Amino acid sequence: MSAARTVAVGGAVPYSIEIGPGLLDDGARLAAHARGRHALLLSDSHVAPLYAARVEAALRAARPDLRIAAHVMPAGESHKTLASFAAAIDALAALGATRDATVYALGGGVVGDLAGFAAACWMRGVDCVQLPTTLLAMVDSSVGGKTAVDIPQGKNLVGAFHPPRAVFADTGALRTLPARELRAGLAEVAKYGAIRDPLFFQWLEAEREALLAGDDRVLAEAIARSCEHKAGIVERDPLEKGERALLNLGHTFGHAIEAEQGYAGVGSDALNHGEAVAVGMVLAARLSAALGMAPDEDTVRLGRLLHALGLPIRLPAGLAPEALLARMRLDKKNLAGRLRLVLWRGIGRAEVVPDVDEARVLEL
Ligand code: NAD
Ligand code: ZN
Repeated sequence: MSAARTVAVGGAVPYSIEIGPGLLDDGARLAAHARGRHALLLSDSHVAPLYAARVEAALRAARPDLRIAAHVMPAGESHKTLASFAAAIDALAALGATRDATVYALGGGVVGDLAGFAAACWMRGVDCVQLPTTLLAMVDSSVGGKTAVDIPQGKNLVGAFHPPRAVFADTGALRTLPARELRAGLAEVAKYGAIRDPLFFQWLEAEREALLAGDDRVLAEAIARSCEHKAGIVERDPLEKGERALLNLGHTFGHAIEAEQGYAGVGSDALNHGEAVAVGMVLAARLSAALGMAPDEDTVRLGRLLHALGLPIRLPAGLAPEALLARMRLDKKNLAGRLRLVLWRGIGRAEVVPDVDEARVLEL
């Protein structure tokens, strides 16, 4: 079986991202990254019943000598905790995993972040193979090596940089993904166009219906191009000292929206991460236009694309700009009375502005 696309990620520890249908059943490819005799397949309570048995069977067929244990964590951001991390470590210990063990992370960004962090810590670091099953995880969280768990004081406060050994994005898995989760991933896809690729942005405008309909070929193309962008950025700036910050377009606003809503997420009225980022990108574009940095037409185009992708583009009713600003102020990188934000000069031209007068946020 051959994957439709491969994206190479360079840097100190190079790896590849393979994208295409059927990869979760391709035991030979998946097992090629298991250096030792132990593998932990970590998944969540939504994804495991759909795919874990298939992955396990594929691995066993390719590598009968591999000792595989499956570990299932409860689904959802509220379980991306130190307690779930400890449970994953217990599973590695019970397996008797040695330093050449491999952790397979089968699921969305929650599983990917938690499994990656467990892999980073077990015996000071074992291999992690990411098997992302959400669009967001395929285009964002599985690439770049950031791993983390949440604590009550905030999201992703405990973690490590631990690049994966390989990433396999099986586009077939997107068929079972709830439509709202697919749209959330499309917000991050649109972000790459907005940050640095006007032609990709234009392509997304043209393909918006196929994307929303879950067209395999078009989604694979969108994932590959998104991964190329993320790979290029993290290769040049692995530890977020400069350019990588651009990936936060819409995120300072977005995180503030999520925090105000208590990270309620899917299944409630609150916006999920991708939706909050969609609103955040439009706010960043509007602020850029208000500051005279970018043309109004580009804000309109961005709003139109996101809206066509089924994403919100306005602050939810009842969420006051003052409350947002209070949250945004908490960012450690800010100076007094000033905000450090990713803004843009127009489609494809994002930049970090270190000293935005915070009063301007209230005028949006
Ligand atoms: P998620 O992992 O919670 O997945 C969303 C929901 O979809 C879950 O209920 C999950 O069980 C379910 N699901 C996953 N795949 C499915 C499938 N194929 N079919 C049916 N259901 C499926 O959320 P997410 O949006 O994938 O990831 C969000 C997380 O990613 C956050 O914790 C965020 O902090 C993290 N993140 C990390 C990075 C990074 O660089 N490490 C980047 C962006 C986001
Ligand atoms: Zn994001």
